[in-house]
Amino acid sequence: MTIKIPNVPKIFESAKLLNQFLQSERTRNLKIGFVPTMGALHLGHQKLLEKARSENDVLVLSIFVNRTQFNDIADFQKYPVTWDSDLAIAQKTNVDLIFNPSFSEMYPDDFSYQVSETKLSLELCGKSRPGHFDGVLTVVMKFLQIIQPNRVYFGEKDYQQLSLIEGMIKSFFLDIQLISVSTVRESDGLAMSSRNIRLTADERQIAPLFYKTLITASNADEAYKILEYHGFRVDYVEDRKLTDGKLRRFGAVYIGSVRLIDNVSI
Ligand code: AMP
Repeated sequence: MTIKIPNVPKIFESAKLLNQFLQSERTRNLKIGFVPTMGALHLGHQKLLEKARSENDVLVLSIFVNRTQFNDIADFQKYPVTWDSDLAIAQKTNVDLIFNPSFSEMYPDDFSYQVSETKLSLELCGKSRPGHFDGVLTVVMKFLQIIQPNRVYFGEKDYQQLSLIEGMIKSFFLDIQLISVSTVRESDGLAMSSRNIRLTADERQIAPLFYKTLITASNADEAYKILEYHGFRVDYVEDRKLTDGKLRRFGAVYIGSVRLIDNVSI
C-alpha cells in the first residue's frame, strides 16, 4: 500500500529569502517554473499550474493583488480574496512554493521605478486603463528578477498582457521561456475569470453572450452593435492581424460594474 503524503507548499513573504532558497535549488540544476497570479484561483489558473508542474522540477506560484495595475481603486478594493481555496488548489496541483508578498515588499521604492512600453500598451485595454500595463510589466519584471525561473506561464485570456510580456522578455534579454496556455471557459463559453464571482445571477446569465458574439459576428462593428443590443456597455471590439499573420478579435465590455475581457481567433 502506498501512502500519499499531501504536498504542503512553503509560503514566502520575503523576496530575499525566496531568492536565496531558489538560488540553492538552481545550483542543484533543478528547473524552475513560475505562475504569477492575483489569487482567487479557478480552473484557468489550475491549467497553468498543471502545465508548469509537468514541465519543471520546482513550481512557484505567486499570489499578489498588484495595486499598481488597477487604474480604478474601487476595482482593486473589490478584488476577490479567497486564500483558503487558493491554498487547496496549490496543494492539489503540487505547488512547491507560494510567494505572497506585501505591497512594501514588492515596492520598496513606492513604484518610483517602472517598466513601461510605449506602443501596444496604449492600445486596446491600455486606452481605457491608463497605466495598467506599466503596473503589470513592472510587477512581472520584479517577479522575474526575484525568482529567475526557467519558464513562466501566462494565459491567452489576457492576450495583450501575454504579448507585452513576451516583448519585455525579448527587449531586456531575459533568459526565460514564456509558455502560453489557451483560455479555459465555463461550459457556456464564458472565459473563467476571478471577476466572474462579482456578477449577479442576472448578469451571469447574459455574460456568455460576450464570447458567443465575438465568435459569431462577421466583423468587429457588428459585434459591437450586437453586444450593445444585449445590454453590455462596450469598451472596444477590434479585429487585429497578429505578427504570425493570424486574425484575432479582442473585446472588453462592462456588465454593471464588472469589466470582462476576451479574445478569440477568427
Ligand atoms: P490573474 O490572476 O487574473 O492575474 O491571472 C493570472 C494568470 O492566469 C494570467 O496569466 C492569466 O492570463 C491566466 N488566466 C486567468 N484566467 C484564465 C483562463 N480562463 N484561462 C487561462 N488562463 C487564465
